[in-house]
Amino acid sequence: MTLFDSPDFEGHEGVHAFFDEKTGLKSIIAVHSTARGPAAGGCRMWNYSSAEAAVTDALRLSRGMSYKNAMADLDFGGGKAVIIGDARSQKTPELFEAFGRAVDSLAGRYWTAEDVGVSPADLVATRRTTRYVAGLEGHAAASGDPSPVTAEGVFRGVRLCVQRALNRDLNGVTVAIQGVGHVGAYLAEKLHAAGARLIIADVNARALDEVAARTGARIVSTDAIFDVEADVFAPCALGGAISATTLPRLKVKVIAGGANNQLADATIGQAVYDRGILYAPDYVINGGGIINVAGEIRALEAGVAFDPDWVATKLDRLAQTLGEVLDHSLVDKRPANLVADEIARARIAAARS
Ligand code: NAD
Repeated sequence: MTLFDSPDFEGHEGVHAFFDEKTGLKSIIAVHSTARGPAAGGCRMWNYSSAEAAVTDALRLSRGMSYKNAMADLDFGGGKAVIIGDARSQKTPELFEAFGRAVDSLAGRYWTAEDVGVSPADLVATRRTTRYVAGLEGHAAASGDPSPVTAEGVFRGVRLCVQRALNRDLNGVTVAIQGVGHVGAYLAEKLHAAGARLIIADVNARALDEVAARTGARIVSTDAIFDVEADVFAPCALGGAISATTLPRLKVKVIAGGANNQLADATIGQAVYDRGILYAPDYVINGGGIINVAGEIRALEAGVAFDPDWVATKLDRLAQTLGEVLDHSLVDKRPANLVADEIARARIAAARS
């Protein structure tokens, strides 16, 4: 199969393969679209089973970034880089300098940042060879940890969905949170402050104890979280939480959380809709993180300090966009994930023309 026949190819503007003999760098940078502005999206380091698997991931992730950036109303297109290798044993500063040269060769068509397997320290090395890097620490334009901003966007999204589905505020509503890492822990605190009752699950016992101590949350096992009596299920762990096996177990009226790729496959969105559950499309509700990163790129480009007010305005707009998606889903009687995809594609097409 050629690249252009791949089911994951969706009009990508460029798919670039880079090899550096000295460091062994093997990297793919996929630029899905620059219609709305330079492509922005993180770099993932992963031990892919084959180069084909790496290309597939880059195609999917870069398209996802186009959609996410469009729904966050950012002047950025979508791109993503992947480095083929084991992030635990094969990282060197020289490898990330070579990666920086690869990014730089695209002359600003793609901005990179952190993703799975890539840390701020790796980006420091990348920055030595390209300026098209966000997510660095210790400078005036730096945006810092995006998780609190992501969690704020998710919190507002949960509140909106509860208003729509249950016609009430968060006081007394029960939210089951799967995963209390960076985003899940901040979300738990915000929900607790708003009067919600919490049920939490994680594989990390210390994270569970800390969040429970701060919020009074009830702890259940990672399997039992799907069966609890709750109003909202908030996936904040890894992808694929909503599947053909977990969906029938959920008793909730709302699914709204911070995790990426919550729906295990393309058919699940329809099944969620058919069960009468209100679903906040993941890449819309969790757009706060990329908004924060965009704030850094914007500040770097203008040579000014990071502006939290700009981020706050974009977060307000994000909540409006989620409202629009839910409105269309209700009126058109169609799953919210499909409606979100259509709006994202329309925004990108409008910018292109
Ligand atoms: P994190 O690694 O800090 O937290 C994830 C948590 O999930 C960890 O505590 C982990 O122990 C837990 N976990 C793993 N497997 C689990 C399981 N089977 N059941 C329950 N818990 C499990 O990551 P994060 O930064 O909080 O991100 C969480 C999700 O949100 C990810 O899907 C990420 O891609 C997405 N996201 C994060 C941001 C951000 O700003 N950090 C932005 C957008 C999207």
